[in-house]
Amino acid sequence: MSTPSKPSLIGLTRDGMKHALADAGIEAKHLSMRTSQLWSWLYVQGATDFDAMTTLAKPLRRDLSERFSLARPEVVAAQVSVDGTRKWLIQFGPGVEAETVFIPEEDRGTLCVSSQVGCTLNCRFCHTGTQKLVRNLTAEEIVSQVLIARDDLKEWPRAGRNSDVRQITNVVMMGMGEPLYNFENVRDALSVVSDGEGLSLSKRRITLSTAGVVPMIPRAGEEIGSMLAISLHAARDDVRDVIVPLNKKYPIKELLAACRAYPGLSNARRITFEYVMLKGVNDSNADARELVKVIRGIPAKINLIPFNPWPGAPYECADWERIEEFGEIVNRAGYASPIRTPRGRDIMAACGQLKSESVKQRASERLAELRSQELARLPH
Ligand code: SAH
Repeated sequence: MSTPSKPSLIGLTRDGMKHALADAGIEAKHLSMRTSQLWSWLYVQGATDFDAMTTLAKPLRRDLSERFSLARPEVVAAQVSVDGTRKWLIQFGPGVEAETVFIPEEDRGTLCVSSQVGCTLNCRFCHTGTQKLVRNLTAEEIVSQVLIARDDLKEWPRAGRNSDVRQITNVVMMGMGEPLYNFENVRDALSVVSDGEGLSLSKRRITLSTAGVVPMIPRAGEEIGSMLAISLHAARDDVRDVIVPLNKKYPIKELLAACRAYPGLSNARRITFEYVMLKGVNDSNADARELVKVIRGIPAKINLIPFNPWPGAPYECADWERIEEFGEIVNRAGYASPIRTPRGRDIMAACGQLKSESVKQRASERLAELRSQELARLPH
């Protein structure tokens, strides 16, 4: 019988870590200091082992290692694209897998992080949308994606690299899943990722992308405070209803009202609207004019994304000249409209290509598994 796994300290907020340490018997007056020490080992040094924590006395290290785990989830496949893009398939549990992608560019390196295994949204052009939701990722699992990427990129000080030269400069919640359907875990994970005494990625360099879960956008503004990206893809409800079915619940007008109210918007802090270019669906000049009309007044940038194909996809990418002309119309109306160069297509790592083999476990199987874990916990 397998031994029940120990809880992890990874992904806890600072308060969460204090609670966990208090439960482990650490005296109240030491909680802040111990949390700071552990925080630095985990998120500045990248420690995966309590033994490495030389600022803690040996008996304490032993106690902690008996109670807590620092293990990373397993990387089951790692691929590198001809353009340098990297993709990791990470296994969080039996049959629970998601992908994380690193996109190096000249002036930045962006880590694209998943929030769920599978997705409930069924956007017609998205590969992940063909996979059922398996489950939400925990804050630990979301933070672990960043740690795994840093491990593989040798970005911890112990690897001897100059820590001023960062490879991961930006994080985007644009992998598998809808982050606003996993709000608390995403919020807690991003509070860890942005903590200035740890991984230290500023909230201005973290972007949360949503297909438009309108009621959660104000909370995202207040409680997360990252940059916001909206997967808009159409300026008319009749088109968006088809390609982003969530639109039937939260139509464009309501979505854009929530965007207008997003805190802290200015020309230096704009909302990104993502617009996937689908041939004959949303790519006409009239579509471009409609787009600039509906977003008027919102400090915004439009990312034009050439559609990335996947097996069995019902759409084609708009022609390149079409994308350029569309972009020009948007640009002349005063909005930056960069065309996103597809990255990592050869390893199926580009926008909308992510999918794992994970399938939803049947309730009866899950129950059986839980029972055997319970049994394993009994003294024997
Ligand atoms: N659920 C969130 C987070 C996923 S982000 C959201 O929808 O914003 C993934 C981005 O890739 C979204 O903007 C999505 O619309 C886009 N995308 C999905 N499939 C695509 C494809 N085949 N080609 C290009 N972009 C795609």
